[in-house]
Amino acid sequence: MADVGSQGLCKQMTNEITDGLQEDTWRQVCESLRSEIGEAAYQSWVKPMTVRGVSDGVTRISVPTRFMRDWVVAHYVDRLGELWNAADKAVARVEISVQPERSFKPSGDERETAPAAAAAATTAAVGMATGESRRSTDTTQAGIGAPLDSRYVFDNFVVGKPNEFAYAAARRVAEAASVPFNPLFLYGGVGLGKTHLMHAIAWHICQQTPKRRVIYLSAEKFMYRFIRALKEQNTVDFKEMFRNVDVLMIDDVQFIGGKGATQEEFFHTFNALVDQGRQIVISADKSPSDLEGMEERLQSRLNCGLVADIHATTYELRLGILESKAEQLKVDVPQKMMEFLAHKITANVRELEGALNRVVAHAQLVGREITLETTQEVLHDLLRANDRRVTIEEIQKQVASHFNIRGSDMHSARRARSVARPRQVAMYLAKQLTSRSLPEIGRKFGGRDHTTVMHAVKKVEELRECDSSFAEDVELLRRMLEG
Ligand code: ADP
Ligand code: MG
Repeated sequence: MADVGSQGLCKQMTNEITDGLQEDTWRQVCESLRSEIGEAAYQSWVKPMTVRGVSDGVTRISVPTRFMRDWVVAHYVDRLGELWNAADKAVARVEISVQPERSFKPSGDERETAPAAAAAATTAAVGMATGESRRSTDTTQAGIGAPLDSRYVFDNFVVGKPNEFAYAAARRVAEAASVPFNPLFLYGGVGLGKTHLMHAIAWHICQQTPKRRVIYLSAEKFMYRFIRALKEQNTVDFKEMFRNVDVLMIDDVQFIGGKGATQEEFFHTFNALVDQGRQIVISADKSPSDLEGMEERLQSRLNCGLVADIHATTYELRLGILESKAEQLKVDVPQKMMEFLAHKITANVRELEGALNRVVAHAQLVGREITLETTQEVLHDLLRANDRRVTIEEIQKQVASHFNIRGSDMHSARRARSVARPRQVAMYLAKQLTSRSLPEIGRKFGGRDHTTVMHAVKKVEELRECDSSFAEDVELLRRMLEG
């Protein structure tokens, strides 16, 4: 694995998030657990956790509701203890309590970035202002960019038919002395390597030409920054910050679909940078022309450069990725087992990686060889989920019967709370449990707009925070649907 963090300025950046040892340990634990239990379970159970303190060999963690505590105690607490102990021998076990308030979050400047920081446990960089002292980084560029994952480098990216074009384009942008095409627009489904390629470009440039200033961030964060600048009335600084970079990379740009003011600002930033001959790299889950809620002039701008599609994985690519990951993990995984996984876990690379990690972690823990039998045992939930994915129709049916409303009310225009709330819950679960996009979900709920779905997701999240019986309902439904 390439050790990006040990090079020049990149090294400085690694130090930015190492304030507390415990925070680091926590991130490590989170990341391992995330690989083992998968993204959905991680988001539901681990993300809401707060570390309250470590003393006398015990790490105390709180969760917001009793329901969560019971679930975590039943399913994850032992493993949490083992992982923590592996990272810090002084800790023997983990205790879970209920506490609605958070006291210490994983590092990060504001609330919205904290879970992301925890998720990207091996993160290295915060705000890629290069060629400046740490102090000036703090004051001028700190926190603009998102952390970079040190594993996401070109060397770790396995190239196959589905991604060879995107890979070649990304390499070209990373290696070129002048801008080869603008923007580079990478698109493809979830977990297929868009973010990996973007980070790889950033690492490469940062190593090869540390003087070039690179900013990588999600479109969501771009919007958040913009709104904050508007509130604080310093949009001039905001514009300056973004218009002074050499390479601007915005991930998941579909997020600003339907966000008029943010799009406007993005459009101007985009034009200003292109006019100055700076490089822009964009990713999204769809091609520019298919992006919903995107202004036409922005779509046509996005289409102007090179558009590279990452296709769904093939069996060969999945096998190649497994072989490469096993090598990185330095474990001997029987070929048969990798073939089995490559056949069975087809959704995306993230899930495939998680499956391998789980199998390897299990084998190491129990000290036995990896066999097909243990693999099936360890991954029974994942394998079953891959056999049978929850559909939006099933979610609607289950939610309607749970709340005693008619199935047709999921599509109807009725706005009475007694039907609107269950409908919102169903939209929320559809977002959580399926890989459907917001517009697709909206269409399945009587042709509603994607902003309605977004609103529903937010509303349910808010209600879960403040109403524990509601939160329990939602969890119950989720568990039933996940089988
Ligand atoms: P996306 O941004 O498209 O949703 P990511 O870039 O986050 O997907 O990829 C998900 C996971 O799969 C990451 O851990 C990434 O390293 C891994 N991954 C995806 N494609 C490849 C590949 N071709 N080779 C190696 N790892 C890959
Ligand atoms: Mg991504």
